[in-house]
Amino acid sequence: MNLHEYQGKELLNSFGVRIQRGIVADSSEKAVAAAKQLTEDTGTGWWVVKAQIHAGGRGKGGGVRLGKSLEEIASISSDILGMMLITPQTPPEGKFVNQVLVAEDVYYPGENDPEEYYMSVLLNRATSKNMIMYSTEGGMDIEAVAENTPHLIFTEEIDPLLGLLPFQARKIAFNLGLSGGAMKEMVKFVTSLYTAYVKSDASLFEINPVLKTSDDKILAVDAKVSLDDSALFRHKDLAALRDLREENAIEVEANEAGLNYVDLDGNVGCMVNGAGLAMSTMDLIKQSGGEPANFLDVGGTADAKRVELAFRLILRDPNVKAILVNIFGGIVRCDRVAQGVIDAFKNMGDAIKVPIIVRLQGTNAVEAKQLLDDSGVDLISATEFQEAADKVQEVLSK
Ligand code: GDP
Ligand code: MN
Repeated sequence: MNLHEYQGKELLNSFGVRIQRGIVADSSEKAVAAAKQLTEDTGTGWWVVKAQIHAGGRGKGGGVRLGKSLEEIASISSDILGMMLITPQTPPEGKFVNQVLVAEDVYYPGENDPEEYYMSVLLNRATSKNMIMYSTEGGMDIEAVAENTPHLIFTEEIDPLLGLLPFQARKIAFNLGLSGGAMKEMVKFVTSLYTAYVKSDASLFEINPVLKTSDDKILAVDAKVSLDDSALFRHKDLAALRDLREENAIEVEANEAGLNYVDLDGNVGCMVNGAGLAMSTMDLIKQSGGEPANFLDVGGTADAKRVELAFRLILRDPNVKAILVNIFGGIVRCDRVAQGVIDAFKNMGDAIKVPIIVRLQGTNAVEAKQLLDDSGVDLISATEFQEAADKVQEVLSK
């Protein structure tokens, strides 16, 4: 689960990480009130208005703008709120902006230019250790740095038993070229950032930029936070931060019904039971020349109600041109599943406009195939896995 920047910053702040302060707003009146409040709290005279969407690269897409008066805040926030913001990380049509974060301007002109660093915390799956990645080359083009000058990106791995050790935090600050007060600030920043990561069961923190102000303060100007879904049950407060408007509508609905659905780019809908079978089904579809449109695991109880809901979800994706039902009857009997498919099909009437290939294997598979073939409904049955995939290709090429 991903958080918005403003939520991520609040989380960091609650662990003592210094942040660029801001107030979230969903109207331009509230944005102006937020700016006034920030001036009272921080003394800032300028503000940035930042679109809150679950995608980065907002600066490049016009979703982060500096305002130097309350009038500018009013007009910038009314421009950004309600816009379809297109960035290198959004779908081509962009993402709708429901909220903006009005933040204190922290790039105030000083004797030195502020420095921008990059810092992320994530799991290195190859070594099974968390690591901190960091670079002096922070700002909007970290992808280009990784591509062209990878030696400018450092990593520090953390032993899971020992945690982040003080010398590691000092090494990071040193490699970033810091000394004196800024070094102390950075050590504290890194230490509390890592604690926040571990304590919130996060899977990614990406802070880009981390800023050193002209008066040597280190603070998070941006925050991309992903939390581990499997650990959300022990963070009810964080789970409540979910913004369903940012998520795929079909995935949300499937989730509520206890179905495991993942949206993909192809045109073959897949209804299967079990994640392993889902993987091999997608492989076989691909190997036979097709592209899966989704991953849908109906789980153990493939009765008519669940099968019908699964069909309806798959069919909401307009790219679906055929559906492959591939179910293994272990505990669930194939003839029950077949009856479920037939009943769902009959219930849905004209709603099904694409060919459906059904392959049931396992307990009572023979009876199941008989039921399908005798049902009079327009289904294509198959016994073998490859046969089913071939039949999918056959209907697609028509
Ligand atoms: P992203 O583009 O989605 O990663 O959004 P960021 O939060 O990283 O903001 C993009 C850029 O806006 C940053 O790299 C900064 O250069 C700039 N920015 C952010 N906060 C301020 C600020 O307080 N003042 C000024 N002048 N620029 C800012
Ligand atoms: Mn950023």
